[in-house]
Amino acid sequence: MNLDTTFIAQVITIIGFVVGLSVFVASGRYPPHIRRSLRDYSYGKFLLAAAFLVAGLRAGRMPELFVPLANGLGIAGLILNYTSVRHLQQRPVWPYWPAFGGAAVALSCLVALLAGGNNLTPVRILSSLVAAGALAVIAFEVLVRYRDRGIPHYVTGIMSLALAGAYLVRMVAALLHDALPADQMVDDRVERITLVLSFLGTVIGAINYVLMASDEFNRELTKLAHTDGLTGVLNRRRLFELGEIEFRRARRYGRALTVLILDIDRFKSINDRAGHPFGDRVIQAVADCCAGQIRHEDSIGRMGGEEFALLLPETGAEAGALLAERLRAAIERELGPLGAERGIVVTCSVGGVALSAGDHQFSDLIAQADAALYDAKNSGRNRVCFAATTLWRPAAVPA
Ligand code: GH3
Ligand code: MG
Ligand code: MG
Repeated sequence: MNLDTTFIAQVITIIGFVVGLSVFVASGRYPPHIRRSLRDYSYGKFLLAAAFLVAGLRAGRMPELFVPLANGLGIAGLILNYTSVRHLQQRPVWPYWPAFGGAAVALSCLVALLAGGNNLTPVRILSSLVAAGALAVIAFEVLVRYRDRGIPHYVTGIMSLALAGAYLVRMVAALLHDALPADQMVDDRVERITLVLSFLGTVIGAINYVLMASDEFNRELTKLAHTDGLTGVLNRRRLFELGEIEFRRARRYGRALTVLILDIDRFKSINDRAGHPFGDRVIQAVADCCAGQIRHEDSIGRMGGEEFALLLPETGAEAGALLAERLRAAIERELGPLGAERGIVVTCSVGGVALSAGDHQFSDLIAQADAALYDAKNSGRNRVCFAATTLWRPAAVPA
């Protein structure tokens, strides 16, 4: 088989168009930001394929036209790779990056060719450097800023790094061998390795990119399945799942665990007087207020209606009661201005319980916290009541 660089470039052209088209078609099945990401990725593949097509077409003719065009298209394609990663991360993207970067490289190539009497070395150095830089930024985005996301991300990052390395080697080779023939694609080992890596990047990279997008989609679905739609805190099912996990961990290792249930006082009358939409705003504000008061390790979930539960791992009855009081006071204080809009006062009652020796399942804690909440309601509302329990003694740690 004739594996010269022109042949590899032609294969990349065909594969690039096919892959770009496949990714574009697949993108329609995803939600907007993932779709945008996949579309940018596919446009990037089209541009890279076009770049290799132009590079293959030129065959020594009109380098002032073909060389800047091929390099500009290629760099714009790589930058689209970068913007696709940013879209996937839901981070801001300057939409003109690809056009700006591609045009800047094309113009620089043209100037270098005109100034250097069609010497391709400066062009090769410039395009390799920019390509390596773009690929290194993509690797950084995927491996560093977007870490702990699974194997497709690592493969994408490592492949981008390998390609960046190949382009740097290509740049050094161009620096070392100044006398390169200007009439055809350079058929040396470095050029061939760079092209083969580009080919692998096109095929494996695209498969990985679709897997990355699917990962992201699954992550979002899982998040949605765990989240309460109105408040953004955990939903009841997820809170119970976490509660079971924390309960077993605390019992197994003799650690403290406190559960609080918080309920907005006389919420029915808030709805009646200020309307259901305002009631929703109150529920949201209470959730925000509580979420702002707890530690990263704590969890808050909406049990239903205007009732929330909080899981406080490594927290005993005393610290739990202090936090409960802090939440109660914060709601009274922070929801004051919102309530004032409709001439109402928003308060809440809290029931709490700390894990004790007699608890055998998480629902035991919920039942006791509920009973304590009932006490708080019966003794006048806007207060904290804790279940009277035998405090759990942490197990002795073996020496
Ligand atoms: P208490 O002080 O004893 O807790 O009195 P309460 O009125 O808050 O008690 P209750 O649990 O009887 O009332 C809760 C009300 O919350 C009843 C229901 O209509 C309302 N509610 C439940 N879910 C929602 C919701 O998503 N949005 C709004 N606005 N109201 C809701
Ligand atoms: Mg209530
Ligand atoms: Mg209630």
